[in-house]
Amino acid sequence: MQPLQCTECGARVLVQKNSWEHTSIQWDDAARARCREIDSAGPGRPGAPRTGCAALTATITRAAEAGAVPVRDPAPVPTPVVAH
Ligand SMILES: [Zn+2]
Repeated sequence: MQPLQCTECGARVLVQKNSWEHTSIQWDDAARARCREIDSAGPGRPGAPRTGCAALTATITRAAEAGAVPVRDPAPVPTPVVAH
């Protein structure tokens, strides 16, 4: 896993991209407290706590496309856009 910072809220999480579809994200307390989207109450609360952040997801996708976050199983790649 590698550290990545959400461009929206600045939360720092650990990320591992297993494939384009599957991403593992590890939140610590500081990141949880910082993110505006994720449920700051954490696990164990009744109901369906939010465990994701749309901005962070976008950040991870951009990082993966830029090669900053390696994708362990890169196939099938959804139409890679290579900017030159
Ligand atoms: Zn966030």
